Amino acid sequence: MKKPRIAMLSEHASPLALLGGEDAGGQNVYVSEVSTNVSALGFQVDVFTRQDSEKAQEINEWAKGVRVINLRAGPATFLKKDELWVHMPQFYDSLLSFAHKQRIKYDLIHANFWMSGSVACDLRREWAVPFVEIFHALGRIKRLYQGEADTSPEDRIDVENRVVDTADVIIAQCPAEKEELVELYGADEERISIVPSAVDTDVFKPVPKRQARKTLGLNPNDKILVYVGRLLPRKAIDDIVYALAILAQRTPRVPRLLIVGGETEHVSPENHEEVRRLAGIAASLGVGHLLTFIGRRRHVVLKYYYSAADVCVSTPWYEPFGLVPLEAMACGTPMVVSEVGGMKFTVQDGKTGFHVPPKDPAALAAKLELLLNDGILRETMGRRARERVQESFTWRQVAKRMALIYDQLLSAQLARDRVPGAHEAGYASFGPASFGQDL
Ligand code: UDP
Repeated sequence: MKKPRIAMLSEHASPLALLGGEDAGGQNVYVSEVSTNVSALGFQVDVFTRQDSEKAQEINEWAKGVRVINLRAGPATFLKKDELWVHMPQFYDSLLSFAHKQRIKYDLIHANFWMSGSVACDLRREWAVPFVEIFHALGRIKRLYQGEADTSPEDRIDVENRVVDTADVIIAQCPAEKEELVELYGADEERISIVPSAVDTDVFKPVPKRQARKTLGLNPNDKILVYVGRLLPRKAIDDIVYALAILAQRTPRVPRLLIVGGETEHVSPENHEEVRRLAGIAASLGVGHLLTFIGRRRHVVLKYYYSAADVCVSTPWYEPFGLVPLEAMACGTPMVVSEVGGMKFTVQDGKTGFHVPPKDPAALAAKLELLLNDGILRETMGRRARERVQESFTWRQVAKRMALIYDQLLSAQLARDRVPGAHEAGYASFGPASFGQDL
Protein backbone atom coordinates (compact mmCIF):
# COMPACT_ATOMS: atom_id res chain seq x y z
CA MET A 1 0.00 0.00 0.00
CA LYS A 2 1.17 3.52 -0.78
CA LYS A 3 2.49 5.34 2.28
CA PRO A 4 0.63 8.56 3.14
CA ARG A 5 2.71 11.62 2.32
CA ILE A 6 3.10 14.32 4.93
CA ALA A 7 4.18 17.87 4.09
CA MET A 8 5.93 19.07 7.26
CA LEU A 9 6.27 22.86 7.11
CA SER A 10 8.89 24.62 9.21
CA GLU A 11 9.93 27.88 7.56
CA HIS A 12 12.77 28.87 9.90
CA ALA A 13 13.75 25.74 11.80
CA SER A 14 15.40 23.12 9.62
CA PRO A 15 16.72 19.76 10.77
CA LEU A 16 19.79 20.53 8.63
CA ALA A 17 20.77 23.27 11.09
CA LEU A 18 21.32 20.56 13.70
CA LEU A 19 24.36 19.40 11.73
CA GLY A 20 26.21 22.67 12.01
CA GLY A 21 26.94 24.85 14.96
CA GLU A 22 24.13 27.21 14.06
CA ASP A 23 21.51 28.58 16.41
CA ALA A 24 19.12 25.68 16.42
CA GLY A 25 16.52 25.53 19.15
CA GLY A 26 13.74 23.19 20.22
CA GLN A 27 11.74 23.46 17.00
CA ASN A 28 14.59 22.10 14.85
CA VAL A 29 14.85 19.10 17.15
CA TYR A 30 11.07 18.62 17.15
CA VAL A 31 10.77 18.68 13.37
CA SER A 32 13.63 16.23 12.93
CA GLU A 33 12.46 13.78 15.59
CA VAL A 34 8.76 13.80 14.73
CA SER A 35 9.51 13.37 11.02
CA THR A 36 11.98 10.56 11.55
CA ASN A 37 9.84 8.70 14.08
CA VAL A 38 6.53 8.96 12.18
CA SER A 39 8.28 7.82 9.03
CA ALA A 40 9.26 4.65 10.91
CA LEU A 41 5.52 4.12 11.49
CA GLY A 42 4.66 4.12 7.79
CA PHE A 43 4.53 7.74 6.59
CA GLN A 44 6.67 9.54 4.05
CA VAL A 45 7.69 12.98 5.14
CA ASP A 46 8.99 15.98 3.23
CA VAL A 47 10.13 18.79 5.52
CA PHE A 48 9.80 22.18 3.82
CA THR A 49 12.04 24.91 5.07
CA ARG A 50 13.53 28.13 3.75
CA GLN A 51 16.78 28.03 1.82
CA ASP A 52 19.20 30.09 3.89
CA SER A 53 22.43 29.65 1.96
CA GLU A 54 23.41 29.71 -1.72
CA LYS A 55 25.26 26.44 -1.26
CA ALA A 56 22.25 24.56 0.14
CA GLN A 57 20.83 21.85 -2.11
CA GLU A 58 17.13 21.79 -2.85
CA ILE A 59 16.51 18.15 -1.88
CA ASN A 60 18.31 16.54 1.05
CA GLU A 61 17.84 12.96 2.21
CA TRP A 62 17.62 13.36 6.00
CA ALA A 63 16.61 9.91 7.25
CA LYS A 64 14.82 6.87 5.88
CA GLY A 65 11.54 8.19 4.50
CA VAL A 66 12.37 11.82 5.35
CA ARG A 67 13.66 14.51 2.99
CA VAL A 68 14.39 18.13 3.77
CA ILE A 69 13.41 20.47 0.94
CA ASN A 70 14.95 23.94 0.82
CA LEU A 71 12.51 26.36 -0.78
CA ARG A 72 13.41 29.70 -2.26
CA ALA A 73 11.77 32.43 -0.18
CA GLY A 74 13.67 35.69 -0.06
CA PRO A 75 17.45 35.91 -0.26
CA ALA A 76 19.36 32.64 0.17
CA THR A 77 21.12 33.90 3.28
CA PHE A 78 20.41 33.67 6.99
CA LEU A 79 17.55 35.93 8.08
CA LYS A 80 16.16 36.34 11.58
CA LYS A 81 12.80 34.64 11.93
CA ASP A 82 11.06 37.96 12.51
CA GLU A 83 12.20 39.02 9.02
CA LEU A 84 10.64 36.06 7.25
CA TRP A 85 6.97 36.99 7.20
CA VAL A 86 7.21 39.09 4.01
CA HIS A 87 8.73 36.10 2.22
CA MET A 88 5.94 33.68 3.06
CA PRO A 89 4.00 34.27 -0.19
CA GLN A 90 7.10 33.13 -2.07
CA PHE A 91 7.47 30.17 0.30
CA TYR A 92 3.91 29.16 -0.61
CA ASP A 93 4.54 29.54 -4.36
CA SER A 94 7.82 27.61 -4.19
CA LEU A 95 6.14 24.81 -2.27
CA LEU A 96 3.30 24.53 -4.78
CA SER A 97 5.67 24.52 -7.71
CA PHE A 98 7.92 21.89 -6.04
CA ALA A 99 4.93 19.57 -5.54
CA HIS A 100 3.78 20.21 -9.11
CA LYS A 101 7.24 19.68 -10.61
CA GLN A 102 7.73 16.46 -8.65
CA ARG A 103 4.14 15.34 -9.33
CA ILE A 104 3.60 14.70 -5.63
CA LYS A 105 0.21 14.80 -3.99
CA TYR A 106 0.53 15.30 -0.27
CA ASP A 107 -2.12 13.72 1.93
CA LEU A 108 -1.73 15.84 5.03
CA ILE A 109 0.01 19.03 6.17
CA HIS A 110 1.72 19.36 9.55
CA ALA A 111 2.71 22.99 10.09
CA ASN A 112 5.11 24.35 12.69
CA PHE A 113 4.94 27.93 14.04
CA TRP A 114 2.52 30.65 12.95
CA MET A 115 4.09 31.54 9.59
CA SER A 116 4.04 27.98 8.28
CA GLY A 117 0.55 27.76 9.78
CA SER A 118 -0.52 30.62 7.56
CA VAL A 119 0.92 28.91 4.47
CA ALA A 120 -0.85 25.72 5.55
CA CYS A 121 -4.22 27.50 5.69
CA ASP A 122 -3.83 28.34 1.98
CA LEU A 123 -2.46 24.92 1.06
CA ARG A 124 -5.35 23.23 2.85
CA ARG A 125 -7.76 25.03 0.56
CA GLU A 126 -5.65 24.46 -2.56
CA TRP A 127 -5.07 20.74 -1.96
CA ALA A 128 -8.22 19.94 0.04
CA VAL A 129 -6.25 17.95 2.61
CA PRO A 130 -6.26 18.05 6.41
CA PHE A 131 -3.92 20.27 8.35
CA VAL A 132 -2.32 19.78 11.78
CA GLU A 133 -0.83 22.83 13.49
CA ILE A 134 1.70 23.11 16.28
CA PHE A 135 2.58 26.68 17.26
CA HIS A 136 5.64 26.02 19.48
CA ALA A 137 5.16 29.56 20.83
CA LEU A 138 2.22 31.94 20.88
CA GLY A 139 2.35 35.61 19.92
CA ARG A 140 0.00 36.77 22.65
CA ILE A 141 2.15 35.17 25.34
CA LYS A 142 5.30 36.61 23.82
CA ARG A 143 3.78 40.09 23.75
CA LEU A 144 2.61 39.70 27.34
CA TYR A 145 6.12 38.90 28.58
CA GLN A 146 8.29 40.88 26.21
CA GLY A 147 6.14 43.95 25.65
CA GLU A 148 8.05 46.52 23.60
CA ALA A 149 10.98 44.15 23.14
CA ASP A 150 8.79 41.79 21.09
CA THR A 151 10.00 42.10 17.50
CA SER A 152 7.31 39.85 15.99
CA PRO A 153 5.58 41.26 12.90
CA GLU A 154 2.40 43.24 13.56
CA ASP A 155 0.25 40.64 11.82
CA ARG A 156 1.28 37.74 14.01
CA ILE A 157 -1.70 37.55 16.34
CA ASP A 158 -4.28 38.03 13.55
CA VAL A 159 -2.59 35.28 11.57
CA GLU A 160 -2.55 33.01 14.61
CA ASN A 161 -6.30 33.59 15.00
CA ARG A 162 -6.83 32.50 11.41
CA VAL A 163 -4.67 29.40 11.91
CA VAL A 164 -6.56 28.50 15.10
CA ASP A 165 -9.85 28.76 13.19
CA THR A 166 -8.62 26.80 10.16
CA ALA A 167 -6.45 23.95 11.44
CA ASP A 168 -8.20 20.60 11.73
CA VAL A 169 -6.17 19.63 14.77
CA ILE A 170 -4.03 21.87 16.96
CA ILE A 171 -1.30 20.23 18.96
CA ALA A 172 -0.73 21.74 22.40
CA GLN A 173 2.47 20.57 24.01
CA CYS A 174 1.21 20.80 27.56
CA PRO A 175 -1.99 21.59 29.48
CA ALA A 176 -0.92 25.24 29.96
CA GLU A 177 -0.71 25.74 26.18
CA LYS A 178 -4.15 24.21 25.70
CA GLU A 179 -5.55 26.67 28.23
CA GLU A 180 -3.84 29.57 26.48
CA LEU A 181 -5.24 28.51 23.11
CA VAL A 182 -8.76 28.30 24.50
CA GLU A 183 -8.67 31.38 26.69
CA LEU A 184 -6.60 33.78 24.59
CA TYR A 185 -7.52 32.61 21.09
CA GLY A 186 -10.98 31.13 21.59
CA ALA A 187 -9.81 27.81 20.13
CA ASP A 188 -12.28 24.97 19.95
CA GLU A 189 -11.23 22.51 22.69
CA GLU A 190 -12.48 19.58 20.62
CA ARG A 191 -9.80 20.22 18.04
CA ILE A 192 -6.89 20.50 20.47
CA SER A 193 -4.85 17.47 21.31
CA ILE A 194 -2.09 17.45 23.91
CA VAL A 195 1.03 15.77 22.58
CA PRO A 196 4.21 16.79 24.38
CA SER A 197 7.68 17.04 22.94
CA ALA A 198 10.17 14.41 23.95
CA VAL A 199 13.80 13.44 24.18
CA ASP A 200 16.03 10.81 22.59
CA THR A 201 16.86 8.60 25.56
CA ASP A 202 19.63 6.87 23.61
CA VAL A 203 21.44 10.17 23.18
CA PHE A 204 20.52 11.68 26.54
CA LYS A 205 21.42 9.11 29.16
CA PRO A 206 23.28 9.23 32.45
CA VAL A 207 27.06 9.14 32.41
CA PRO A 208 28.65 8.46 35.84
CA LYS A 209 29.37 11.90 37.32
CA ARG A 210 33.08 11.27 37.81
CA GLN A 211 33.49 10.10 34.25
CA ALA A 212 31.47 13.01 32.85
CA ARG A 213 33.59 15.51 34.78
CA LYS A 214 36.81 13.82 33.74
CA THR A 215 35.71 13.96 30.08
CA LEU A 216 35.06 17.68 30.41
CA GLY A 217 38.15 18.42 32.50
CA LEU A 218 36.08 19.45 35.54
CA ASN A 219 37.04 19.06 39.17
CA PRO A 220 35.26 16.04 40.72
CA ASN A 221 34.86 17.87 44.02
CA ASP A 222 33.32 21.14 42.81
CA LYS A 223 29.65 21.91 43.23
CA ILE A 224 28.44 22.48 39.70
CA LEU A 225 25.28 24.05 38.30
CA VAL A 226 24.59 23.82 34.60
CA TYR A 227 22.41 25.98 32.36
CA VAL A 228 21.84 24.76 28.81
CA GLY A 229 19.97 26.77 26.19
CA ARG A 230 19.94 29.83 24.05
CA LEU A 231 21.46 32.97 25.49
CA LEU A 232 18.44 35.27 25.48
CA PRO A 233 17.18 37.77 28.05
CA ARG A 234 13.87 35.87 28.38
CA LYS A 235 15.79 32.80 29.53
CA ALA A 236 16.70 34.93 32.59
CA ILE A 237 20.18 33.52 33.10
CA ASP A 238 20.79 36.70 35.09
CA ASP A 239 18.44 35.35 37.78
CA ILE A 240 20.74 32.34 38.18
CA VAL A 241 23.66 34.75 38.56
CA TYR A 242 21.74 36.71 41.22
CA ALA A 243 20.96 33.43 43.01
CA LEU A 244 24.66 32.53 42.91
CA ALA A 245 25.47 35.84 44.56
CA ILE A 246 22.96 35.05 47.33
CA LEU A 247 24.52 31.61 47.82
CA ALA A 248 28.00 33.15 47.90
CA GLN A 249 27.00 35.13 50.98
CA ARG A 250 25.62 32.08 52.76
CA THR A 251 27.94 29.21 52.04
CA PRO A 252 31.70 28.79 51.78
CA ARG A 253 31.31 26.13 49.05
CA VAL A 254 29.74 28.23 46.33
CA PRO A 255 28.83 26.32 43.17
CA ARG A 256 30.25 27.10 39.76
CA LEU A 257 27.84 27.85 36.96
CA LEU A 258 28.50 26.47 33.49
CA ILE A 259 26.49 28.23 30.82
CA VAL A 260 26.19 26.08 27.71
CA GLY A 261 24.76 27.62 24.55
CA GLY A 262 25.11 30.45 22.10
CA GLU A 263 25.28 30.63 18.35
CA THR A 264 28.85 29.40 18.06
CA GLU A 265 31.25 27.03 19.74
CA HIS A 266 33.09 29.88 21.43
CA VAL A 267 31.28 32.80 22.98
CA SER A 268 32.77 35.69 24.88
CA PRO A 269 31.81 39.17 26.10
CA GLU A 270 33.57 40.50 22.98
CA ASN A 271 31.43 38.62 20.48
CA HIS A 272 28.09 38.14 22.24
CA GLU A 273 25.84 40.83 23.68
CA GLU A 274 24.05 38.62 26.21
CA VAL A 275 27.35 37.16 27.42
CA ARG A 276 28.60 40.70 27.92
CA ARG A 277 25.50 41.62 29.91
CA LEU A 278 25.67 38.49 32.11
CA ALA A 279 29.41 38.80 32.69
CA GLY A 280 28.86 42.45 33.67
CA ILE A 281 26.18 41.54 36.22
CA ALA A 282 28.31 38.73 37.64
CA ALA A 283 31.33 41.02 37.97
CA SER A 284 29.29 43.68 39.72
CA LEU A 285 28.07 41.07 42.22
CA GLY A 286 31.58 39.72 42.79
CA VAL A 287 30.80 36.27 41.35
CA GLY A 288 32.33 36.68 37.89
CA HIS A 289 34.94 34.02 38.67
CA LEU A 290 32.17 31.42 39.19
CA LEU A 291 30.77 31.66 35.65
CA THR A 292 32.06 29.80 32.62
CA PHE A 293 30.60 30.43 29.18
CA ILE A 294 31.06 27.15 27.38
CA GLY A 295 29.52 28.07 24.00
CA ARG A 296 27.32 25.93 21.83
CA ARG A 297 27.67 22.14 22.11
CA ARG A 298 26.19 19.30 20.06
CA HIS A 299 23.63 16.89 21.52
CA VAL A 300 26.14 14.04 21.70
CA VAL A 301 28.32 16.16 23.96
CA LEU A 302 25.54 17.66 26.07
CA LYS A 303 24.96 14.46 28.02
CA TYR A 304 28.36 14.99 29.68
CA TYR A 305 27.34 18.47 30.84
CA TYR A 306 23.96 17.33 32.12
CA SER A 307 25.58 14.37 33.90
CA ALA A 308 28.45 16.41 35.33
CA ALA A 309 25.99 18.81 36.95
CA ASP A 310 24.84 18.47 40.53
CA VAL A 311 21.76 20.42 39.52
CA CYS A 312 20.54 21.84 36.21
CA VAL A 313 18.74 25.18 36.20
CA SER A 314 16.35 26.85 33.80
CA THR A 315 14.33 29.80 35.08
CA PRO A 316 12.95 31.68 32.06
CA TRP A 317 10.17 34.26 32.35
CA TYR A 318 8.09 31.94 30.21
CA GLU A 319 8.73 28.74 28.27
CA PRO A 320 6.22 27.29 25.83
CA PHE A 321 7.56 23.76 26.41
CA GLY A 322 11.28 23.45 27.16
CA LEU A 323 13.28 20.49 25.86
CA VAL A 324 16.25 21.19 28.10
CA PRO A 325 14.57 20.04 31.33
CA LEU A 326 13.66 16.74 29.67
CA GLU A 327 17.23 16.27 28.43
CA ALA A 328 18.66 16.90 31.89
CA MET A 329 16.09 14.60 33.47
CA ALA A 330 16.91 11.87 30.93
CA CYS A 331 20.52 12.12 32.13
CA GLY A 332 19.34 11.57 35.71
CA THR A 333 19.92 15.13 36.94
CA PRO A 334 17.35 17.04 39.00
CA MET A 335 16.11 20.33 37.59
CA VAL A 336 15.19 23.60 39.24
CA VAL A 337 12.83 25.40 36.88
CA SER A 338 10.55 28.38 36.93
CA GLU A 339 6.93 27.46 37.31
CA VAL A 340 5.88 28.39 33.79
CA GLY A 341 4.49 26.78 30.63
CA GLY A 342 5.60 23.26 29.81
CA MET A 343 8.05 23.04 32.69
CA LYS A 344 5.17 22.99 35.20
CA PHE A 345 4.15 19.76 33.53
CA THR A 346 7.45 18.02 32.73
CA VAL A 347 9.24 18.69 36.03
CA GLN A 348 7.30 17.43 39.04
CA ASP A 349 7.78 19.78 41.95
CA GLY A 350 9.40 18.02 44.91
CA LYS A 351 9.71 14.76 42.96
CA THR A 352 11.97 15.20 39.93
CA GLY A 353 13.16 18.69 40.83
CA PHE A 354 11.76 21.95 42.14
CA HIS A 355 9.57 24.75 40.82
CA VAL A 356 10.32 28.35 41.73
CA PRO A 357 8.43 31.49 40.74
CA PRO A 358 10.00 33.24 37.73
CA LYS A 359 12.10 36.34 38.45
CA ASP A 360 12.71 35.27 42.04
CA PRO A 361 16.44 34.70 42.66
CA ALA A 362 15.92 34.33 46.43
CA ALA A 363 13.49 31.42 45.95
CA LEU A 364 15.89 29.91 43.40
CA ALA A 365 18.84 30.23 45.80
CA ALA A 366 16.84 28.48 48.54
CA LYS A 367 16.02 25.45 46.35
CA LEU A 368 19.55 25.26 44.99
CA GLU A 369 20.93 25.31 48.50
CA LEU A 370 18.58 22.54 49.56
CA LEU A 371 19.61 20.32 46.66
CA LEU A 372 23.31 21.10 46.76
CA ASN A 373 23.45 20.12 50.43
CA ASP A 374 21.60 16.84 50.05
CA GLY A 375 23.21 14.15 47.90
CA ILE A 376 20.50 11.59 48.65
CA LEU A 377 17.76 13.98 47.58
CA ARG A 378 19.65 14.73 44.35
CA GLU A 379 20.09 11.06 43.61
CA THR A 380 16.46 10.17 44.34
CA MET A 381 15.13 13.05 42.26
CA GLY A 382 17.55 12.27 39.44
CA ARG A 383 16.46 8.63 39.32
CA ARG A 384 12.79 9.56 39.30
CA ALA A 385 13.46 12.16 36.62
CA ARG A 386 14.99 9.56 34.31
CA GLU A 387 12.04 7.21 34.97
CA ARG A 388 9.52 9.94 34.21
CA VAL A 389 11.15 10.67 30.86
CA GLN A 390 11.25 6.99 29.92
CA GLU A 391 7.59 6.58 30.86
CA SER A 392 6.14 9.66 29.20
CA PHE A 393 8.52 11.61 27.00
CA THR A 394 10.19 9.52 24.32
CA TRP A 395 9.91 10.42 20.62
CA ARG A 396 8.55 6.95 19.88
CA GLN A 397 5.60 7.66 22.16
CA VAL A 398 5.09 11.07 20.59
CA ALA A 399 5.25 9.59 17.08
CA LYS A 400 2.65 6.97 17.99
CA ARG A 401 0.27 9.70 19.13
CA MET A 402 0.95 11.77 16.02
CA ALA A 403 0.43 8.75 13.79
CA LEU A 404 -2.93 8.14 15.45
CA ILE A 405 -3.96 11.74 14.77
CA TYR A 406 -2.76 11.50 11.16
CA ASP A 407 -4.67 8.21 10.72
CA GLN A 408 -7.85 9.70 12.15
CA LEU A 409 -7.61 12.70 9.86
CA LEU A 410 -6.84 10.57 6.82
CA SER A 411 -9.83 8.32 7.53
CA ALA A 412 -11.98 11.41 7.96
CA GLN A 413 -10.64 12.68 4.65
CA LEU A 414 -11.67 9.45 2.93
CA ALA A 415 -15.15 9.66 4.45
CA ARG A 416 -15.43 13.29 3.46
CA ASP A 417 -14.36 12.63 -0.12
CA ARG A 418 -17.26 10.22 -0.43
CA VAL A 419 -19.83 12.86 0.55
CA PRO A 420 -20.59 15.26 -2.30
CA GLY A 421 -20.27 18.92 -1.37
CA ALA A 422 -18.65 18.13 1.97
CA HIS A 423 -15.40 19.88 1.24
CA GLU A 424 -16.23 23.02 3.14
CA ALA A 425 -16.82 21.12 6.38
CA GLY A 426 -14.00 20.51 8.83
CA TYR A 427 -12.35 17.11 8.86
CA ALA A 428 -13.01 16.68 12.54
CA SER A 429 -16.72 16.39 11.87
CA PHE A 430 -15.99 13.28 9.78
CA GLY A 431 -13.56 11.81 12.27
CA PRO A 432 -14.24 8.70 14.30
CA ALA A 433 -13.72 10.52 17.58
CA SER A 434 -13.00 13.94 18.99
CA PHE A 435 -9.43 15.05 18.38
CA GLY A 436 -9.65 17.00 21.59
CA GLN A 437 -9.13 13.86 23.61
CA ASP A 438 -5.66 13.76 25.00
CA LEU A 439 -4.52 10.58 23.42
N1 UDP B 1 20.99 23.09 22.52
C1 UDP B 1 22.09 22.52 21.88
N2 UDP B 1 23.33 23.01 22.16
C2 UDP B 1 23.54 24.03 23.03
C3 UDP B 1 22.42 24.60 23.68
C4 UDP B 1 21.15 24.11 23.41
O1 UDP B 1 21.95 21.58 21.11
O2 UDP B 1 24.69 24.41 23.21
C5 UDP B 1 19.67 22.51 22.28
C6 UDP B 1 19.14 21.83 23.51
O3 UDP B 1 19.78 20.59 23.70
C7 UDP B 1 17.64 21.73 23.20
C8 UDP B 1 17.40 22.98 22.38
O4 UDP B 1 18.69 23.48 21.97
O5 UDP B 1 17.37 20.55 22.47
C9 UDP B 1 16.69 24.06 23.18
O6 UDP B 1 15.35 23.73 23.27
P1 UDP B 1 14.36 24.34 24.36
O7 UDP B 1 13.00 23.83 24.04
O8 UDP B 1 14.84 24.05 25.74
O9 UDP B 1 14.44 25.92 24.16
P2 UDP B 1 14.24 26.83 22.85
O10 UDP B 1 15.58 26.98 22.25
O11 UDP B 1 13.27 26.11 21.93
O12 UDP B 1 13.70 28.11 23.39
